[in-house]
Amino acid sequence: MTNSKSERKLPSYSEIYMPLCYQCYEEGFENELEFQKMSQTVMAVNEFYDDDGLHHHDPNVISTYYKCSEGHELVLMERSLCPICNWPNDNDD
Ligand SMILES: [Zn+2]
Ligand SMILES: [Zn+2]
Repeated sequence: MTNSKSERKLPSYSEIYMPLCYQCYEEGFENELEFQKMSQTVMAVNEFYDDDGLHHHDPNVISTYYKCSEGHELVLMERSLCPICNWPNDNDD
């Protein structure tokens, strides 16, 4: 078996364990992103009990800013999921 094609499949962000620059990655370089700053919103956390137990709905978004050596910038935004109902991802009703 020969590998005639050398196509590189781009991983999703969750598959990259170190933050790599996506724009560099597409060009075949694996430049690590350098941490710049972090910011977080300051909204109130909503805690309540229902039949499933204690919910902890934290609407705050944590933004992490990165920059690679080529000057590309990336912002990763994350939010805490509720361990009970998976909020805010599960929005069926
Ligand atoms: Zn880059
Ligand atoms: Zn919940």
